[in-house]
Amino acid sequence: MKQKLALLGGPITKMTPFGKGKRFGLEEARQLMEALEQNTLFYHFGSKVKQFLADFNEMYGVKYSVATSSGTAAIHVALGAAGVTVGDEVITSPITDQGTLIGILYQNAIPVFADLNPDTYTMDPASVERLITPRTKAIVVVHLAGNPCDMDPILEMARSRGIKVIEDCAQAYLTRYKGKLAGTLGDYGCFSTNDFKHISTGDGGIVTVNSGDESDYHTAHAFADKNYRRFGTSVQRDLHYIAPNYRMTELQGAVGIAQLKKLNWICSTRNRYGERITEGLRGIPAIRPPAVTPGGECTYWFYMFRLELDRLTCSRETFCEALAAEGVPNRAGYIPDVCYMQPLFQERHAYPGSHFPFEGSSVSYERGICPNAEEILRTAVQVPISEFYTEEDVEDIIRAIRKVALWYAKD
Ligand SMILES: *Cc1c(COP(=O)(O)O)cnc(C)c1O
Repeated sequence: MKQKLALLGGPITKMTPFGKGKRFGLEEARQLMEALEQNTLFYHFGSKVKQFLADFNEMYGVKYSVATSSGTAAIHVALGAAGVTVGDEVITSPITDQGTLIGILYQNAIPVFADLNPDTYTMDPASVERLITPRTKAIVVVHLAGNPCDMDPILEMARSRGIKVIEDCAQAYLTRYKGKLAGTLGDYGCFSTNDFKHISTGDGGIVTVNSGDESDYHTAHAFADKNYRRFGTSVQRDLHYIAPNYRMTELQGAVGIAQLKKLNWICSTRNRYGERITEGLRGIPAIRPPAVTPGGECTYWFYMFRLELDRLTCSRETFCEALAAEGVPNRAGYIPDVCYMQPLFQERHAYPGSHFPFEGSSVSYERGICPNAEEILRTAVQVPISEFYTEEDVEDIIRAIRKVALWYAKD
């Protein structure tokens, strides 16, 4: 039975407000007070960043990690530590935050975009393999919206060729792949604690150094601190090559300690809600729910499904409007277009007045190079998920999507 859409004057599906909650409380405040009482906010002198990393390492089962000022910084540090340099090629995803790309360009390396699986929205290993050249130095996989990439084939092709694998886990806290945590699978795992991620320190990031090798850890650590080698009581300031200052402060570390304690609950709740929405959307005409990568466990930073537009009498814009009118906030797609359509790539300008490092490179940024990724962004609808939502909120989201789809479905 079709129900008249709220957009057309019918009843509104979502009548109760969505669940809300406080992300920060006395735990964070107490940690911050302790940080201030140290009389220093410098990570190397205080104990908060150290404790934050120790807690993170324990949770992730890793030996070494480095704190940074952002997720973008974390990825740059991993690239720098991996030795990515002038003229190297780095394969990555065309649907991501630009923070994935900035470090690649700052190292004067060239991003190469691999196509995605049409249902998991993560990098297709076959596409990655086709793009490998003798210049490929690293692969930055993006576990989009908390869904893991299909890591086994990617790790295998990388290891056999000496290519480094960096995991962008900014949207993927406690995401698992075949039982293992995303961020511990490649050579480096990069996390963001910006204010929009599963946990927040205002801004901040973490890089795991998965080789467990002390000298790799020292290299990564120094790359986040101007290449100062600050270990124990000695500081070595010899500069062999440049590195930025991406240090985390004690204030961020303090908040991070308290936030980490909430992470299990945040991720398990989001996992449950995301799985429930997918189950609820099955069989609804013209709706293509996302797929979790086989062997994966997704922690849903957001929930994104696709419309089969040829089976609908409306455009995606109208669908989104109708869904919003039912009381379910949403947006069309994620980023407006694939990353390589940005003027930076179209005009091959990483730096004003220069085409470096693109000149002489035959890497393509033409429309159509990643058809699945382009199609995902043309047909996707994103609804936010929050750990503060109630079970009822989740059912209302499903009911609203079903109602709008049934109204506009051709069949
Ligand atoms: C948020 C995000 C980043 C960048 O993190 P910042 O902390 O904002 O610098 C990188 N990659 C992805 C996939 C992200 O979602």
